[in-house]
Amino acid sequence: MTTEREVTTTIENEDKKSLNFVEQIVEGDLRAGKNDGRIQTRFPPEPNGYLHIGHAKAICMDFGIAENYGGVCNLRFDDTNPTKEDVEYVDAIREDIEWLGFHWGNIYYASDYFERLYQFAEELIRAGHAYVDEQTAEEIAAQKGTPTTPGVASPYRDRPIEESLDLFRRMNAGEFPEGAMIVRAKIDMASSNMHFRDPIIYRIIKVPHHRTGTKWGVYPMYDFAHGQSDFFEGVTHSICTLEFEVHRPLYDYFVDLLKKVEPNHPEGYRPRQIEFNRLNLTYTMMSKRKLLQLVQEGHVAGWDDPRMPTICGLRRRGYTPESIRSFIDKIGYTKYDGIIDMALLEHAVREDLNRHALRGSAVLDPVRLIITNYPEGQTEDMSFLNNPEDPNSDSHIIRFSRELFIEREDFMEDAPKKYFRMTPGQEVRLKSAYIVRCTGCKKDENGHVIEVYAEYDPETLSGRPESNRKVKGTIHWVSATDSVPAEVRLYDRLFLDENPSEAAKDKELAELLNPESLTIVREARVEPFLAQAKCGEYYQFQRVGYFCVDPDSRPDHLVFNRTVSLKDTWKKVNK
Ligand code: ATP
Ligand code: MG
Repeated sequence: MTTEREVTTTIENEDKKSLNFVEQIVEGDLRAGKNDGRIQTRFPPEPNGYLHIGHAKAICMDFGIAENYGGVCNLRFDDTNPTKEDVEYVDAIREDIEWLGFHWGNIYYASDYFERLYQFAEELIRAGHAYVDEQTAEEIAAQKGTPTTPGVASPYRDRPIEESLDLFRRMNAGEFPEGAMIVRAKIDMASSNMHFRDPIIYRIIKVPHHRTGTKWGVYPMYDFAHGQSDFFEGVTHSICTLEFEVHRPLYDYFVDLLKKVEPNHPEGYRPRQIEFNRLNLTYTMMSKRKLLQLVQEGHVAGWDDPRMPTICGLRRRGYTPESIRSFIDKIGYTKYDGIIDMALLEHAVREDLNRHALRGSAVLDPVRLIITNYPEGQTEDMSFLNNPEDPNSDSHIIRFSRELFIEREDFMEDAPKKYFRMTPGQEVRLKSAYIVRCTGCKKDENGHVIEVYAEYDPETLSGRPESNRKVKGTIHWVSATDSVPAEVRLYDRLFLDENPSEAAKDKELAELLNPESLTIVREARVEPFLAQAKCGEYYQFQRVGYFCVDPDSRPDHLVFNRTVSLKDTWKKVNK
């Protein structure tokens, strides 16, 4: 990835309904009668980490194609490397796909095919298409050559077939240490495609596998497992990201060999690999390895930290599945890599939450407001619409009283001309309640405002004679007696650098982090309606932003996460 790469910050032609290039290919295949009109895709995550928003792009494609063309999409765990994989990840991946709203046909595991893959490798050795190489990884790498100069043949390349077969069996039986030898396909050391220069197909790994335990001493490489697994399952369109484009000839090569030895497949059937551009987002990273590092080094609270680009992090942050799907739909699929502006993802969630979030009142930085002419002990129940965007919206009650809390920033003693909020002598509307005129404030010995004073006009309540009187500002409030305290967590971008993956090439992750990515507000006040909020519900705190309940929340200690502010306020600090 290069820094010069253009960042996509706007989406043109948002409503385009034309087919993307993968859909065009699929429709072409259907028209040509390929695979008897059958459509089968798969989503093939390696269970070595949690899914991120990039995977959501692949999921929308794989499941979307199956849905749109009456096919099936299976979930296949690509579990060929036991050193990095775990059932914790398998469970999380299933949960995240379901949360996004997709349904798989079957669940498969690449490890289901270990026996068939092993037999296929033996078959290749017997046919002279593979051999056991005893050189070190360094020696093999040194012989690879360059795209313009041919590689050098391994001294083991022409060893007797029986010898390779015997060694392969003993590799599997655990007779040799890891790295002592590997199996290579015998293809073409002079090929212009480096992946054809006798690629490694099997290696020794002495770590128990999360499903097959210690049954296997050898494990297939990605290139020797993926196409074959597609073939065994009957996948018709194997859709993946662009970096696999150069692997496609090898994919086809092994499928061709497999078709010769596996007789039980429909005439004319073959899986087809298609590649699209991966999702890269500004101010974040997508590599599972890097995300794991963030977790392990304690830079975030876990895979589901609301600052993480993981599906579970976005869920905890308050993103809706619909907003993620609509974002993916808008950015589309192409044949060239680029970087998408994080602001587009935030725009998508704002758009969705504006439609669905319930409105409530919360004051993040409270200062007491006393309505001096309002009778002591009196209260009034004001009706507050849950969602003005929804014609069928219910409303809830917000209780007005003599003492309220307002945002500290909504009062200014010496205000500039265009300040339309609370300042001595000026009228302002208290949302869903009265118009009040500010009369002054009280400060402590340090000059810190501790109370603000105002007088209300009883005629300005909705339905009364003066209710339509125009004032320039409306501010939100909560009752000082009725509201409850809450902790509010405000999130910002995790990285300061627009392209942290690039920057991480010569800097430590820790140096790239935004030190202000998490601000904890401990003394916020929320109205009782919000105090009853549950995990998985979506709220707008009027004038403040979109929020949700964090799983850490307890009845006696409420915790809210800010999903996103009402407007895009991110400033490019380091530009
Ligand atoms: P990582 O590099 O983050 O570990 P990966 O490609 O190794 O990702 P897999 O679990 O192998 O992760 O990915 C499963 C599927 O998701 C693959 O088809 C892969 O191409 C796709 N995928 C992974 N990252 C992205 C991304 N950023 N954008 C689109 N698709 C992605
Ligand atoms: Mg992978």
